[in-house]
Amino acid sequence: MSGTHRISPRSGVAFALDAGARLTVIDPEGSQVSDLVAYCLADVREVISNGRTFDYEETIALTTGNKLWSNRSNPMLAIVDDTVGKHDFLLTPCSEDTFRHFYPEHPVHRGCFGNLVAALAPWGVTADDIPTAFNLFMNVPVDGPSGAIKVLPPLSKAGDKITVQAEMDCLIGLTACSAYASNGGSFKPIDYRID
Ligand SMILES: [Zn+2]
Repeated sequence: MSGTHRISPRSGVAFALDAGARLTVIDPEGSQVSDLVAYCLADVREVISNGRTFDYEETIALTTGNKLWSNRSNPMLAIVDDTVGKHDFLLTPCSEDTFRHFYPEHPVHRGCFGNLVAALAPWGVTADDIPTAFNLFMNVPVDGPSGAIKVLPPLSKAGDKITVQAEMDCLIGLTACSAYASNGGSFKPIDYRID
């Protein structure tokens, strides 16, 4: 796979990423979140884990130099470039349930969760297998003393990007996020490239 691919607003894709390959995710218009999940291509029961990642990286502020770890304590992806430096690994993908909870005035959308389930189904991944996503460009500041969190518009500007290198053969799920608050109130595409 070569060249740049576009994920339409409020949709998602899935693809294999070979060990050593680099995935660059670009926010082409700015202020748009992209949820990323990763599985071991050979056994999708091995999956990206925010808890393991926080354990081993000793931070929740993940950027260039940090690795993203699996539930089996193997490194899956290494962040090798990051022009934004603000991403979230605390919150789950937006879903029909979160739309009902936060946006009762808006039509329910299947969200990143439903988009990931649909995109990953050919690999045998089901709804119960969707982990907390690494939410690229998502701006969730944490107040240290109280632990309170907020969802603010992304800090990413048009053309900002993050690059991860696969440390094992991975199955990747990737979205253009569907939720209002996390994307500054509008829905834009996401671009990606594999090198
Ligand atoms: Zn979303």
